[in-house]
Amino acid sequence: MAGKQTTPKQAALKRAVFLDRDGTIMRDRGYLKDPEGVELLPGVVDSLKALCREGWKLIIVSNQSGVGRGLMTVDEMNAVHARLIRLLRGHGIEIAASYLCTHSPDDECECRKPGIASLEKASVEHSVDISQSWIVGDRESDILCGRNAACTTIWFNTGEFDVASELPDYVAESWAEIYEKISDA
Ligand SMILES: [Mg+2]
Ligand SMILES: [Zn+2]
Repeated sequence: MAGKQTTPKQAALKRAVFLDRDGTIMRDRGYLKDPEGVELLPGVVDSLKALCREGWKLIIVSNQSGVGRGLMTVDEMNAVHARLIRLLRGHGIEIAASYLCTHSPDDECECRKPGIASLEKASVEHSVDISQSWIVGDRESDILCGRNAACTTIWFNTGEFDVASELPDYVAESWAEIYEKISDA
């Protein structure tokens, strides 16, 4: 066939920071149903604000198996999440999108981290270049998710969970450290 094949025009792909929610952005209260229980972790506001300013898309990817386990309703989950989004917005932080997996582990879905279906969906829906993106989380499932999707991983070591040392690209113990690592990249 003659002629040069034109590649389809690509929307400019953007870099994202995929954020775990519970234990990373807000205190992990275990299947929280009460919006009043939402509490941002220290340093989150300053760091997310700065990342926002630097043009990073902030996308929350969260396992909410409390729904699938019958411990909370979708409405309760949504109410908690809405309060979080409102609190962040009040600080000038725009969350571009949230992907909440409501399945229980028994469902063997592909959106429950370490599954990468949510990252792939975000990449299509928000023109995100996963390979230029980061994921931050406090559990091994967050780090494995990032590795499975081939983005850069930061384990937020809060002292709650263990992650095999060879898994994360970076380890941070505060939001200031998380911000520095992403911002320096
Ligand atoms: Mg977590
Ligand atoms: Zn799922």
